[in-house]
Amino acid sequence: MELLKIGAIIDNEPLLNDHREEILSPADGHLVGHLYKSNIEDVKHAIDSAESAFYGTWQSFTLRERKKLLLRLYERILSKTDTYARLEAENTGRTIRQSTLMDVPVAVDHIHYFATEGQFKSKRRITHPDYPGTKGEVQYAPYGVVAAIAPWNVPFLMAVWKTIPALLAGNTVVLKPSLHTPATAYELVKDMVESGFPRGVVNLVIGSGREIGDELVSNRKVRMVSFTGSTKTGKEIMKTSASGVRKVVLELGGKSPTIVFDDCDLKKTVNGVLFSIFLHMGQICEAGSRLIIQNSIKDKFLSLLRRGIEAMKDGNPMDMETDIGAITTSDQLSKIRSMVERGTQEGSKIYYSKKLRNVPENGLFYPPTILDNVSTNMSVYREEIFGPVLSVIGFNTEREAIEIANDTRYGLAASVWTRNTAKARRVGSRIEAGTIWINQHHLPSAAAPRGGFKDSGVGRELGLEGLMEYTQTRHLFINDRGIEFDDIAPALVVSNQEFFEDL
Ligand code: NAD
Repeated sequence: MELLKIGAIIDNEPLLNDHREEILSPADGHLVGHLYKSNIEDVKHAIDSAESAFYGTWQSFTLRERKKLLLRLYERILSKTDTYARLEAENTGRTIRQSTLMDVPVAVDHIHYFATEGQFKSKRRITHPDYPGTKGEVQYAPYGVVAAIAPWNVPFLMAVWKTIPALLAGNTVVLKPSLHTPATAYELVKDMVESGFPRGVVNLVIGSGREIGDELVSNRKVRMVSFTGSTKTGKEIMKTSASGVRKVVLELGGKSPTIVFDDCDLKKTVNGVLFSIFLHMGQICEAGSRLIIQNSIKDKFLSLLRRGIEAMKDGNPMDMETDIGAITTSDQLSKIRSMVERGTQEGSKIYYSKKLRNVPENGLFYPPTILDNVSTNMSVYREEIFGPVLSVIGFNTEREAIEIANDTRYGLAASVWTRNTAKARRVGSRIEAGTIWINQHHLPSAAAPRGGFKDSGVGRELGLEGLMEYTQTRHLFINDRGIEFDDIAPALVVSNQEFFEDL
């Protein structure tokens, strides 16, 4: 395969410079290509270009015209989904089966959703009951330049979520994917250029948060920051953004529970829990990393989970049959190792950890693992591991399950597994999290707002609520017929009637 060359795209022009770094495959360490890092001047150039595009061209595009362009982009990407799936798998180390059957089709569907959705309007009419005879128009105006910052774990979907709604709402964008996984974001922006997006409407910069992040978040021309990543970085970004009174939307970390009742459909629930934690080897913000299980079925359930893990095939992630993907970065692999070690020192027990025998040499792999004897004060219970590690804790009553589930600083997502829908709704409505799946996990709908309670974030992404985040309201108060107050108002500031008679 040809080596990738990934650099900034500014004003619709690719920019390759001297700051070259190798991109290695997490699955076996082979050279995938090179990336060309942007510097602060490049970031400033990208922001200037986005600002000129906002005032110069993009503002004159109607909502309909913007949707038309998005639809053209959708059609283009639809014709090359295999390319995206391969790039995503090569760059992240996830299995080609998961990128082909999940990441790419979901992202493509989401582009289609926003290109065709009909709920979002750029204005609405109101009346003012307090001023009869006047009219009002509430406009949903874009912010201008949005800095969109994405994490390394689900790069294509993140690049789509960070750009498409922002553009639909009329903003221009400077996108910064993670330095570790920029391949599909680069392809997306290239495809936007090819689809006819005007110069500067979408720009891409490549670099680490430490080197170029501050400029993106503090440049006075950036009016909104849309960030997805860790809670730690989110807090820093909120602080830096405050200097410019900038709008921020933060989609942050999670420690999501899967709550399993003894009246669940056992087969579906075992499958569901395996899916919730081992999709992309747990490197997903809403991964079901805490299994909260009714004690009456705990032993049986864990032995079924173990059988599920035993059945997972290890091998080269680029083979369609392989189930176990790589860990995307060596830092992340070290973090998983040290967190599990700390967990066992704190008293949890490895119930099962798969022996990996067929993974490629020089790959970054961690075996799917179940930790039992976990209690709520342990780090493996409280902190994001972001790997294929499931922490298990038992409960007896519904109330206890809810208390354990909410005993966390995070509040991103949860799933509830039971055949009793009334109970599931009752429990789900008391979990402090932005998304609750009932007898399901992970499935992201473009129509549904997603985001975090507590330390998992502020603001929402996707759905109408997510789109509205990219707008600010402007109220036009229209007095075109003359009203009673026209006579009252002048006398409030000038009491001398002669002045009005002389006018
Ligand atoms: P991270 O916070 O380290 O980095 C995220 C992005 O921010 C990267 O592009 C990085 O380069 C950039 N960045 C880092 N420091 C910055 C700074 N000071 N200023 C500006 N940008 C900066 O996160 P990560 O390790 O890439 O991703 C994993 C995290 O993302 C996990 O915590 C995961 O839960 C979270 N995540 C959340 C969601 C969600 O929807 N809530 C989705 C995916 C991932």
